[in-house]
Amino acid sequence: MFFSHERPRPHQKEMIGDVYKCVSERKHLLVHAPTGIGKTAAVLSPAITYALEENKAVFFLTPKISQHKIAVDEIKALAEKNKLQFTAADIVGRKYTCVDPILEAADHHSFYEICARRRKNEACQYYNNAKGNTKRQKDAAGLALQKIMENYGTVKSNNELVQECAEFKYGGKKHALCAYETAMQIARQSSVIVCDYFHVLYPHIAGAFMKKVGKKLEDSIIIVDEAQNASERIRSILSHSLAPFTLKRAIKEAGLLKSPLKKKLEKLKRDTEALAKKEPQVIKQNALPTWDEDDLEELKALGNDYLETTNRMRSACLAIHSFLSMWPVESQEYLRMSNARGVHHNCMDAGVATGGILKEAHSVIAMSGTLTPLEMYKDLLGFEEERTEMRQYESPFPRENRVNIISDSVTTRYAKRSDEQYQKIAGEVTKVVDTVPGNVAVFFPSYRVMREVLFNFKPNKPVYSQKERSTPTQAAQLLAQFRESRHFGAVLCAVAGGSFAEGIDYPGRDLMAAVVVGVPLAEWGLETQALVEYYEYKFGAGWNYGYLYPAMNRAIQAAGRVIRNEDDRGAIVFLDERFKWANYAKCFPQDMDLVLTRDPAYCVGEFFKQ
Ligand code: SF4
Repeated sequence: MFFSHERPRPHQKEMIGDVYKCVSERKHLLVHAPTGIGKTAAVLSPAITYALEENKAVFFLTPKISQHKIAVDEIKALAEKNKLQFTAADIVGRKYTCVDPILEAADHHSFYEICARRRKNEACQYYNNAKGNTKRQKDAAGLALQKIMENYGTVKSNNELVQECAEFKYGGKKHALCAYETAMQIARQSSVIVCDYFHVLYPHIAGAFMKKVGKKLEDSIIIVDEAQNASERIRSILSHSLAPFTLKRAIKEAGLLKSPLKKKLEKLKRDTEALAKKEPQVIKQNALPTWDEDDLEELKALGNDYLETTNRMRSACLAIHSFLSMWPVESQEYLRMSNARGVHHNCMDAGVATGGILKEAHSVIAMSGTLTPLEMYKDLLGFEEERTEMRQYESPFPRENRVNIISDSVTTRYAKRSDEQYQKIAGEVTKVVDTVPGNVAVFFPSYRVMREVLFNFKPNKPVYSQKERSTPTQAAQLLAQFRESRHFGAVLCAVAGGSFAEGIDYPGRDLMAAVVVGVPLAEWGLETQALVEYYEYKFGAGWNYGYLYPAMNRAIQAAGRVIRNEDDRGAIVFLDERFKWANYAKCFPQDMDLVLTRDPAYCVGEFFKQ
């Protein structure tokens, strides 16, 4: 087995064996692998070993571009350590790699339309340089690729490749290349491809993407990283919304180009606004006026004309075209609804997209640091019963380095919410926070509960609270201030499921304890209710799959920020009586060793005294 380190860590070896067994038997695997196991190495090592032996391709999928780096680094290390001769490609969507500065301002729909038109009309010099249309261009593009590959090594991160493509010279002259097309050509020669969920799991793109990179699903080992969010992410890719604000912009575009569609768009806006004024409700297809194929074609052409004539980078007509093309899709997996934000066509079942891919693929490995209960993720992503294995590994970190506490002294249950309850919660949290000799994060189920608790929260430490509408820069500043307080201690108040609670590391003294206040259940509304009903009908587990388990995952994710490496010591407090209820408690990973108490501050104090 090719491996990137001297020897595997505890449990890593077990995971390597399980992954290899599954891929060699053409099976799928769902893996709960807590932080510290080294899951990226544990999955890539056997997958690449098998792929090189059997001439298969490995796809490593992540939900965010920022998560590509860890896989790219691991692939590089694996090849270097074992002196392997293979190539890997790091692929990011066209919009994020485009070397043409003019397109920077384009929105999603408009970017793809402009890019497609430029390629078709041979108007993108970067595309011509990287791929070419004429024989002469194609020959030059071939030579450019050859030059790029000369010092490519095993893999280059997308950032490095974009930079190289932007600065590429040919015959001593600047000759920038389309980085996306270059990466795709490298992918054709690659055994491993790092890319995003939507490249492989989104049916409208997957077929064309696989063809472009010259791979077949049946010969592909697909690794889905951070799989705890995969179902929600895929559902959101498949869902579409129509807002009155977008329609207003589209009407302006139609007016400017004197399009007869203006009247139709105005009627659509009136109907959408009327629905948005009513209480949230489930609606039928005929709640909106019908747009036939010709109308849709015309709308798309109008959007394109608008971009061309005005030289703008955004067309609302194109966004509406995308919504209306999906609107007629009649299926029980979709919910048509309206609320104050407009009209929505929401996908409730990620299996619609992943089911077919799972059937065809050689193997799919879905993994995460918090993937419990595994059964739910198997169902939600549409894994086949007969071909799927599930594994849960223990945390490799010393158990004595952590204490996990449930306190049932308070609750944020809706029926029990009151000023008195919030005061009690604030009191409990204050005691815990003041006992911790360093930084503490307190995660709340919502901004509303956070506000109520903070009203009575008076710890002996500075408090930094996440703001509901802060910009990324403001959020980064807040986080930096909190981290800088590591030597004297501060409190970070944030919402579970938010950007401070998931996909972020607080190493060492950056975070010594976390308090999870209440169960972060989704707001109960039409959409959650529909999801619960749908999951009940499909899996007989509506309440758990649609409401309870996702909330528990958010709570466990937030708590998991404390211990990120084997030297970290930390305390976690789950503050709500419901955490001890059987249905909730079974979501905790088996190795959490939870302590039930009514005095969490005392337990935390004793732990830090040791
Ligand atoms: S072909 Fe490439 S360089 Fe040209 S617009 Fe599209 S993404 Fe940008």
